[in-house]
Amino acid sequence: MKEKVYKILPDFLQNCMVYLYNRQAYKRRYGGEYKHFRKEKKENRTLSLEELKEYQKNRYSEFIEFVIQNSEYYKKSIGNIENVALIENISSLPIVNKEVLRNNIETITVKTSEKLEKSKTGGTTGKSLEVKFFFRDSQERFAFLDDFRSRFGYELGKKTAWFSGKSLLTDRDIKKKRFWKTDFINNVRYYSTFHIKDNYLKYYVENLISYAPEYFVGFPSTILEIAKYGIANGYNFPENTVKAVFPTAETITEETRYYIEKFFKAKLYNQYASSEGAPFIIECEKGNLHLELQTGVFEVLDENDKPAKSGRLIVTSFTTAATPLIRYDIGDSITLEEPDKICSCGNNNPLVKEILGRIDDFIYSVENGKINLGNVSNTLKDTKGIIRFQAVQNKLEELDLYVVIDKEIYSKQIEKVFIGNWKDRVGNAMKIHLHYVNEIPVEGSGKYRIVKNNIKDLL
Ligand SMILES: [Zn+2]
Repeated sequence: MKEKVYKILPDFLQNCMVYLYNRQAYKRRYGGEYKHFRKEKKENRTLSLEELKEYQKNRYSEFIEFVIQNSEYYKKSIGNIENVALIENISSLPIVNKEVLRNNIETITVKTSEKLEKSKTGGTTGKSLEVKFFFRDSQERFAFLDDFRSRFGYELGKKTAWFSGKSLLTDRDIKKKRFWKTDFINNVRYYSTFHIKDNYLKYYVENLISYAPEYFVGFPSTILEIAKYGIANGYNFPENTVKAVFPTAETITEETRYYIEKFFKAKLYNQYASSEGAPFIIECEKGNLHLELQTGVFEVLDENDKPAKSGRLIVTSFTTAATPLIRYDIGDSITLEEPDKICSCGNNNPLVKEILGRIDDFIYSVENGKINLGNVSNTLKDTKGIIRFQAVQNKLEELDLYVVIDKEIYSKQIEKVFIGNWKDRVGNAMKIHLHYVNEIPVEGSGKYRIVKNNIKDLL
């Protein structure tokens, strides 16, 4: 009903609806203990590594004790482990992956009379998962995120361009080439991430230039497409407009960072979390990634579940008391920095060398193993005229590449280079099928995926 009403309202009133909707969300986010958490997070920025570990240890104990008392699943599965709430004993707890979480979601989620916030997470397999949060946990998460962004001057109310998976537009908007809605009170313009097509991108670029936002927040794949279009079509985004770009929800490749920073003439600061509520990894002003120990426990494990420098990321997150994440295999892999390396930014949390991204986001080659997202995007090396592509794997020894090209620049010669780059990575046994298409649709979530691996379950 609400949606039907929204659709028939004039643009001005739709903008008001966007504001009213946000006001509800903001009230919850910035109410309760938010201010207290903001203050704490700011104070914690300069803790020494020992102090951070002490804080982590205490939060861990409180968290585990709460979960054992309130979650039926955890009472059974870990309640009898000796000294279970000591962080030193974390490896005696079972690892929980997405399937286990999904199948036991009812008994894992705590029983409480408090109202809980729901968060749907889009599974890459198409099955979604609904986790819940206590409002105080969401408030702590937003306080942390806002503390991170405030290091680069951001606060709610600063002029911001937002790119999220909400669908906002009506047919009338599309006819009028208006791909955004504006919350004038909070100074946020929401751009649709579902209309990233060549013949629409012009309107995005021109509107962003005239709107002149100070901050960008949202899906980097969308921001990237706009940046690439802007560069390819000779637009000059005014200097000193954007102060920072804060990507969410997707892995950042070198290519993404390069084009976004180049076109918008601003730095991108990466941050890693997840809709299930993972602890945070944040990028600092020196361009280094820090594991934020105050938000949870990070373990990096190899295939035999032994600690490793590079491997699967297993997280325990203190802000997930409602649907607890304890030793949760989130499906991403990372590489740690040497433990003795210290960052000069003043943050004493340990460093991550690289977030390798979704383990889902890979192409599997019988010859060469997993080809990760970074390597997939590097197949554009020495090519020109490929506007975007998507690699889809439905069979072990076959690969489908969907490619959108600029016909004036692209050539047979470039096709050869592109295929050559792929062969370098996947080997010669893989059959590569090239499909030239006019567009590549985004997912239901509004994100555009460069890799779709549909055979993960066979591996
Ligand atoms: Zn740093």
